[in-house]
Amino acid sequence: MKRDTTVLLDEKRIFKPDVETVERAHVKNWENEIEKGKNFEAYWEEKAEELEWFEKWDKVLDETNKPFYQWYVNGKINLTYNAVDRWIYTEKRNQVAILYINERGDEEKLTYYELYRQVNKMANGLKNLGVNKGDTVSMYLPMCPELLISMLACAKIGAVHSVVYSGLSVGAFVERMNDANAKILITADGTYRRGKIINLKKISDEALLQCPTIETVIVLKHTGSEINVSDLSGREIFYDRFLEGEPAECEPEWMDAEDPLFILYTSGSTGKPKGVLHTTGGYMVGVATTLKNIFDIQKDDLWWCTGDIGWITGHSYVIYGPLLLGTTTIVYEGAPDYPDPGAWWKIIEKHGVTKFYTAPTAIRHLMRFGNKYPNIYNLSSLRILGTVGEPINPEAWMWFYKNVGKEKTPIMDTWWQTETGMHLISPLPSAHLKPGSATKPFPGVDADVVDEDGNPVPLGKGGYLVIKKPWPAMFRTLYEDEERFQQVYWNQIPGVYKAGDMARKDEDGYFWIQGRSDDVLKIAGHRVGTAEVESAFVSHPAVAEAAVIGKSDPIKGQVIKAFLILKEGYQLKTKLIEELNKHVRYELGPVAVIGEMEQVEKLPKTRSGKIMRRLLRAKESGEDLGDTSTLEE
Ligand code: ATP
Ligand code: MG
Repeated sequence: MKRDTTVLLDEKRIFKPDVETVERAHVKNWENEIEKGKNFEAYWEEKAEELEWFEKWDKVLDETNKPFYQWYVNGKINLTYNAVDRWIYTEKRNQVAILYINERGDEEKLTYYELYRQVNKMANGLKNLGVNKGDTVSMYLPMCPELLISMLACAKIGAVHSVVYSGLSVGAFVERMNDANAKILITADGTYRRGKIINLKKISDEALLQCPTIETVIVLKHTGSEINVSDLSGREIFYDRFLEGEPAECEPEWMDAEDPLFILYTSGSTGKPKGVLHTTGGYMVGVATTLKNIFDIQKDDLWWCTGDIGWITGHSYVIYGPLLLGTTTIVYEGAPDYPDPGAWWKIIEKHGVTKFYTAPTAIRHLMRFGNKYPNIYNLSSLRILGTVGEPINPEAWMWFYKNVGKEKTPIMDTWWQTETGMHLISPLPSAHLKPGSATKPFPGVDADVVDEDGNPVPLGKGGYLVIKKPWPAMFRTLYEDEERFQQVYWNQIPGVYKAGDMARKDEDGYFWIQGRSDDVLKIAGHRVGTAEVESAFVSHPAVAEAAVIGKSDPIKGQVIKAFLILKEGYQLKTKLIEELNKHVRYELGPVAVIGEMEQVEKLPKTRSGKIMRRLLRAKESGEDLGDTSTLEE
């Protein structure tokens, strides 16, 4: 049979959910729910009813000023009221809201009632500093309860938060602070990372020399370092001292559905990070609805999303989604393999985690240590697993499925972006799964694969991933750059949102993300996504991780250059090179001309764990590296 050259990896395995999973689920029939979602304004109206609004909207969606869409027009709501306050009048009052755990084994629990009091104190403190609705507050904090408290306090009084990921260095920090014009910074003495303490205060001191708008710095003592009051400058105050005497009650600000909620930056995988602005009402509806239905959040759940709060995954699914649903969320400060590669599995066993959401990069990393670690622990509490961040290679999916989920736990491969705010393409637990496919658009979401002019491409063919109808948690603009907002996302293909990723749909309508459109390879006239080639490499037992780029070739135009991290004990010698060539050709067919392979110890990744192929390309061609502000050390 002739192979369709745009379908490279032909993954045919299908996994069906077990009866118990489906019977438990909020949504028992995935396809029916997708049908229901086609009546999309009615669908999103019904979902919005699950939150408590102070005043209802006049209109679900206003499309008069495209692409500046508005959701739940004139609706009045408060995020923190919905995520915290409303639970204290229910049986959840004394339930744990936040379970904080760190790599040293320290634990701290905060009930909804305790969280309520802490948030109110912080909200009152900020108000006393003169923070008003619409002002920006910046945070440079570890993964710890005080970060959640500070964000929720902002949302309560209508201040806009701008969280700077605690692993970023001075330059990136300064840029984000100055962009946001923040007057207040909340930071900490340090954070735990792989047995060391990173001195955040030192980094923020250095950054603040270049941040003229900052008037007050609130300093959390988190790692027990020896900073004394006498070490603080006039504008600095300790976090505990700051909250002293503040009342534990605070009225929620009535926010318009379209009032800004936060600014957050993209990961910088494909270029300079973009400052994304999210608003209130639609964002709340989007994150609560997706988390509830994709991870089937129930009363007895213990939810753990390993994403850092410094990125969108943490905003939407460590804090806001889980608290809006009144569940318990784990906040973990540490690495997946510290003190040993069983660290995460140990936590799952000890606390009985039921839903576990992580990234393919972490799975590939943990796979390298073999099956030993997940098998030491009893992971039978797990009911649903999930991934986000990059395409998950079928090999990694299978490893996760077998060793962590013990072949009974469905995996939700969720495709979404900082810009989208919420999951857009993902299965629900009642779906039939195919390893490596994010399956179909979430109910009420309209996605497609099209060519440059916006025409749908035939099934099986690769093209641009676009979203054809607005969705509630969509970003509203790039911060202070409306022109770039329109240019990058909306003007390139008329009438639709261009995501910047390539994808194809198979004969069942399942979406397969092929990689970034910026990274696409052109081999002998064919466009080839990076994901499938990398997955083919990773499916060989010698390869732990792979990144591919196109390299100019006088005859073929471009050939593939592969950067490979090999598993322990392997060396990239002639025999293995031959074997890999054969293996990849077998998996992908004749298009996959591998020009060159290079064994590497590490791949350049963003601090959120995504491979930065543009750096490999730049290095290969001797060009300037461009923005490296989010590059891992
Ligand atoms: P930048 O926009 O600055 O280049 P980024 O796109 O990496 O950075 P994020 O918003 O954190 O910033 O990541 C979104 C991207 O991550 C998506 O566009 C997609 O390429 C990738 N991604 C996320 N989830 C998935 C998934 N489940 N499958 C495939 N790719 C995914
Ligand atoms: Mg992006």
